[in-house]
Formats: sequence, C-alpha cells, structure tokens
Amino acid sequence: MLGPGILKGLAITFRHFIETYLEDLRWAGRKRYGSAEGIASRSGKDARGLFTIQYPEERVPTPEEFRYIPFLVYDVKENGDHVDRCTSCGICAKVCPPQCIWIVRTNDPVTGRPIPSPAEFYIDVDICMNCGLCAEFCPFDAIKMDHDYEIASYDRLTTNIYNTAKLSKSASYYASIRPVNFAQEETARAEKEAKVAAAKKPAAES
Ligand code: SF4
Ligand code: SF4
Repeated sequence: MLGPGILKGLAITFRHFIETYLEDLRWAGRKRYGSAEGIASRSGKDARGLFTIQYPEERVPTPEEFRYIPFLVYDVKENGDHVDRCTSCGICAKVCPPQCIWIVRTNDPVTGRPIPSPAEFYIDVDICMNCGLCAEFCPFDAIKMDHDYEIASYDRLTTNIYNTAKLSKSASYYASIRPVNFAQEETARAEKEAKVAAAKKPAAES
C-alpha cells in the first residue's frame, strides 16, 4: 500500500529528527561531536538520531585490515640509512590483476647483472583496484596496503602515477597502521632466522 508506506517512512524520519535533539540533551556536558567517544557512539549499532560523521573534522577510526593504495616498506639502519625491502623480483607486477605496477630493475653498470633493488617502481593509482594481491604475494614483506585514502588532486595525470619516492614509507609507519600484522611478521622472521642459524651451527662446528 503506497499511502501507509509513505506515512511510515515519514514517521521514521521524524523520529530520527527528534532523537537527534534527545541525544544532544543526553550528551549534555560531554562532546558528542569531535570526540572519539562520540564517534564510537554514532558509529555503533545502537546509534540514535543524527549519526553522520562530520568529515573532515571527524574521521571514523580505520580498521587495521582496511586497504587502499599499496606502499613500499623500507627499514632504517642504526646509522640512519634506508634499506629498501623490495628486491625488484617482479612478483607483485605479475599478480596485479589490472597490471598497474611497473618496475625498472637495477643493473650493475660494469657486469650488467641485475641488482636486487628497483631503479624505479611505479603504480598508477587510478587503475589500482585496492585488491591487496601485491601485498599478499610479496615474499619479502616489501609492499603493504596503506590506510591513506585522501589522494584527491586537481590534476591526476601528473600526480596519480606514484614513483618510488612517493611510494616509500618506513617500517615504523607500517607498524603504526598495522601493529598486529607487523608483530606477526616480525615474530615469523625471527623464528625463521633462528632456524637458519641453528641449521648452520653444526656445519660450522664440524
Ligand atoms: S614489492 Fe615484493 S613482490 Fe614486488 S618486486 Fe618488490 S620484492 Fe618483489
Ligand atoms: S592492490 Fe591490487 S590492483 Fe593495486 S597494485 Fe596491488 S595488486 Fe595491483
């Protein structure tokens, strides 16, 4: 029935309208807007009244597994030098469904042999579909999915092909956005290194 349905919808809208003011009264003295507590309340299943997030002043907390554009991870040595994890093996470029990654390998200028480090690494972020396969398949934990979704620009032709410099971020940044993943990978890496060291020990002693 068209008539009762419209009336029911209007009644729901009116209830939300009233509840917005009731919620403001309930939150009197506390910050319903611009506070983590207020955002959690308006994002939850029991949200009543106005539950719009006032972006960009407010942002919904980003879950760890959220993924946007990939980035390249580098480690920082004790002397401050940056060490790229990427070996330019090319696996990520091969598995990327829309083929938006391309890599220029570094070659030894004398021997011409490949050096395990990219001379250039590009991702066309307009084509990237945020699937995360590159990060899943990278054997060196060198490419990870970022949380930064604010990439709007006025000229995508000059800004949306990310090069190595724009893609590279530190391992500590990675740890800050994906602490659980980072800790799991570091534990797995330490266990693997311990196994390799244990396997080498008897050979070195004999
Ligand atoms: S990011 Fe990983 S998979 Fe891609 S080229 Fe570098 S090491 Fe290989
Ligand atoms: S997230 Fe998916 S589409 Fe984007 S670069 Fe990685 S593999 Fe390609």
